[in-house]
Amino acid sequence: MIRIDKLLSHAGFGTRKEVKVLLKQGRVMVNGTCIKQDKTKVNEYEDDIWVDGEQLTYVKQHFIMLNKPAGVISATVDEIHTTVMDIIDFPNKKDMFPVGRLDIDTEGLLLICNDGKLAHRLLLPKHHVDKVYEVHVKEIFDEKQKEQLEQGIVLSDVICEGAQVKVINEHQIELTIHEGKFHQVKRMMHAVGNEVTYLKRIQFGPLSLDSSLANGEWRFLTEEEVEALYALGGKT
Ligand code: URA
Repeated sequence: MIRIDKLLSHAGFGTRKEVKVLLKQGRVMVNGTCIKQDKTKVNEYEDDIWVDGEQLTYVKQHFIMLNKPAGVISATVDEIHTTVMDIIDFPNKKDMFPVGRLDIDTEGLLLICNDGKLAHRLLLPKHHVDKVYEVHVKEIFDEKQKEQLEQGIVLSDVICEGAQVKVINEHQIELTIHEGKFHQVKRMMHAVGNEVTYLKRIQFGPLSLDSSLANGEWRFLTEEEVEALYALGGKT
């Protein structure tokens, strides 16, 4: 639900002040009833809203933060596996898709949206969207491995820029990487002689995983979070 003045303002009917006047003049109908109060809450997805005899076709960008559980894949449809879109119970998810990928066994923050241009820009290497992972490893994590990761790793087909490493304990670190290459964290750890036993993304650019989201739960991004994404990726 959203306040009618906010909705109309977002839809291009002027500032909140101008929209208030428009409402007072009795020019807005919601489900067949004239609405004059700017505080009235409407359902932007379901309510039938008309302004000056014209129906409002308000296409909203949707942004969701999912705490991805293990066992689902980062795709929109799949014949074999459950996808992240399957587990999101949002009726208007039709045109939405995950921004980038997490492996099937990786958990944590996955951005899901319907703004293709923004998604594309956020994934471009030049935008340097930092990703922070909680990484658990099989072997003891030592100083040499830390230095190697910080210097950058040359994999068979790609070069990974130096990462930031925060050691939590002998078997757990927080790793910040700047690219999003295929199996990047697992391959980087393998290259320094260790093995990932558990992986969870806890940050994606300006977004931090909401600790109140249990595995498999999601919420819409706040306005501030959406603005921060646009500040990073740019708006067309
Ligand atoms: N790096 C990986 O190896 N896997 C992921 O899912 C994300 C980053």
